[in-house]
Amino acid sequence: MGKMGRSAAAVLFAAAVCAALFFLLHTAAPQTSASSESFRLGTYVRLSVYGSPDPKRLLSEADDAVARLESLFSANIPTSDVARLNAAGGRWVQVSDETAALLEKALSLAELTGGAFNPAIGGIVKLWKIGTPEARIPGSGEISAAMPFTDYRKIELRFCVGAAEARIPDGMSLDLGAVAKGFVADILKEKLKAGGAKSALIDLGGNLDVLGPSPKGGAWRLGLQLPWGARGEYFGIVEASDVSVVTSGPYERYFEKDGVRYHHIIDPETGRPADSDLSSVSVIGPDSASADALCTALYVMGSEKAAEFLAEHGDINAVLLKAGENKILVTAGAAEIFRPARDSFSVERIGP
Ligand code: AMP
Ligand code: MG
Repeated sequence: MGKMGRSAAAVLFAAAVCAALFFLLHTAAPQTSASSESFRLGTYVRLSVYGSPDPKRLLSEADDAVARLESLFSANIPTSDVARLNAAGGRWVQVSDETAALLEKALSLAELTGGAFNPAIGGIVKLWKIGTPEARIPGSGEISAAMPFTDYRKIELRFCVGAAEARIPDGMSLDLGAVAKGFVADILKEKLKAGGAKSALIDLGGNLDVLGPSPKGGAWRLGLQLPWGARGEYFGIVEASDVSVVTSGPYERYFEKDGVRYHHIIDPETGRPADSDLSSVSVIGPDSASADALCTALYVMGSEKAAEFLAEHGDINAVLLKAGENKILVTAGAAEIFRPARDSFSVERIGP
């Protein structure tokens, strides 16, 4: 073999070794993590799973589950359980087990928060249309005409043999937008866990739910959005594992008219965007559906009533950011896992 022939053979040999190594590495270490993104329930659903034997299949099953739940809970899908209830003219409607469970949970959270979280607020939400291009300021006559149809205590639920049924008064409109994302996150978390994931991050437009420890080991570091900062700029960090962190604030969806900001969280007592002295509320807990409804309710209550509520309910952990101040209010449990991102924020303890 000549000089050229020998070097060509060496190159071929090296290439063969590389190919073999590549093959070996890829068969010896199968992929155990994957991420997905979809637009569902009016928000970006971002899922990441780690330590799973088949992460792609697990994510595709999770995506199917979100699509199915959206098809049950979305008021904008005419065949959904919620849309059928809204259009039933006061008659009983058969609903899926998931819808019945979500309604039952929503009703108990409405009761717990004295109606600050109100799943029957749909008629008012539809008047304002905040978050849509048709957002507007309804007349006070329109608001007072819609208010009598927001009494959540008139929502009925019954469990018959093999089927659940619900009934809402004619003229009432359900809106589960303040609780459904958390409820879906809880279902996804169970699914990913049952499917063998060691860790997972479920992000439904700021509704965060994490399974297990962070993939790097230890606690996850979850940032709380600074309402007046750029996306991804945080006012504080929660460090925890296996937990849900849900945040509500007026900065998420709003429109402005004549220098006044109208946001999407309605005070059910006035039928208008809540005039709250808070600019962000996060609830941290094991159950994302409760955390979701509670952060909306605490925002509506404002700092004083929220502090009283949290003093009475010592099992609820929350982080509240006062509007226009660098002041953060935290419950005892939250203080253990929360730290402000900047020294300029003062932290005050609330709760029992
Ligand atoms: P969230 O982003 O979880 O705070 O939920 C806000 C969404 O829930 C709004 O876009 C409305 O569809 C609905 N909503 C607004 N105000 C309330 C309220 N006081 N109780 C229950 N749902 C509400
Ligand atoms: Mg909520």
